[in-house]
Amino acid sequence: MAQTPTQHPCLSCGACCAYFRVAFYWREAEPDGIWKVPVKLTVDLDSTYRCMKGTEVKHQNKCVALTGRIGKDAHCSIYQNRPTPCRNFMASYEDGTHNPRCDEARNRHGLRPLCKSDYPPAPETPAGTPQVEKT
Ligand code: SF4
Ligand code: SF4
Repeated sequence: MAQTPTQHPCLSCGACCAYFRVAFYWREAEPDGIWKVPVKLTVDLDSTYRCMKGTEVKHQNKCVALTGRIGKDAHCSIYQNRPTPCRNFMASYEDGTHNPRCDEARNRHGLRPLCKSDYPPAPETPAGTPQVEKT
């Protein structure tokens, strides 16, 4: 019987960090920029964009900030400072919807597409907790 997942699938994957070009507005890597991406881990693409070093050529290499083994224990070494495209990229079914680009990256690294059952169960709401919602 399949085991119930205990962690988010990205925490053992990293495939998209070793597949896509990760380009972002240059100011994200400035000391006063929104995410303070370490500039030494980036390269200039043009006068407007930088990209994560290692991802300049699509589908060829991996981001310099990725550590560990893809599909085993890969993770981002600058997670708190990662640029916007990394923050916006959704794992397939993370928000309930399919992301074919996640599948594409995983497929390149020999990993099967994610499905809803790859996510840990949502924590149970303790009995008696008032139900609230955003209004
Ligand atoms: S900065 Fe982190 S999340 Fe973004 S591509 Fe590199 S390793 Fe992946
Ligand atoms: S390819 Fe998908 S599952 Fe893998 S790290 Fe990227 S978003 Fe997460």
